[in-house]
Amino acid sequence: MTETQLREQICVLAKSMFDRGLTGGSTGNISARTSDGGLLVSPTGTSFGRLDPARLSRFDAAGQLISGDQPTKEMPLHSAFYDTRSTAGAVVHLHACHSVAWSMMPGVDADNFLPPLTPYAIMKLGKVKLLPFFMPGDPAMGDAVRGLAGKRSAVMLANHGPVVAGKDIEAACNAIEELEDTARLAMMMRGYDANALSPEQVQNLVTKFDVEWD
Ligand SMILES: [Zn+2]
Repeated sequence: MTETQLREQICVLAKSMFDRGLTGGSTGNISARTSDGGLLVSPTGTSFGRLDPARLSRFDAAGQLISGDQPTKEMPLHSAFYDTRSTAGAVVHLHACHSVAWSMMPGVDADNFLPPLTPYAIMKLGKVKLLPFFMPGDPAMGDAVRGLAGKRSAVMLANHGPVVAGKDIEAACNAIEELEDTARLAMMMRGYDANALSPEQVQNLVTKFDVEWD
């Protein structure tokens, strides 16, 4: 994929998520590795519905901003994933309604945020770590991700939103949508004593699909 194609793909996928209400206003941020080891990042204050391919923040392999607008304030979150996960080719962060709602529910398992309801959430996300609330822009968010030492591809920032890394931009977007859908299912089924997947079924998925499950 050329850089021009990657820029287009970032904006198309971001707009798709915006159009489906997965992150509103000027919330959410998205980044992807370029073939030269640099990064393309959504600029600060921009809406997922109106990202301009030509104005994405462009970093070189040394981490210097070389063109485009100033990057998102949540850049430390993105850097933390790239620095700790060599397989990360893209990172997406949303302010997504149902996952934020689920992060506020009493008794949620902070080490394994999502209940085992459907196979694809397990296959695409592994265990999702619930992190505490941080003030917006607090670099401690990035430190919390670094503290996971690359063992998780997906985290949930309590009262804020999910952050997911993937091998490429499409994988990261698919995975974060799975996270939001599963949180939505969890909200829908709460109180119904739902028939979740059994521990054996979860283990079979983890084994068969080689899921990171630490
Ligand atoms: Zn945010």
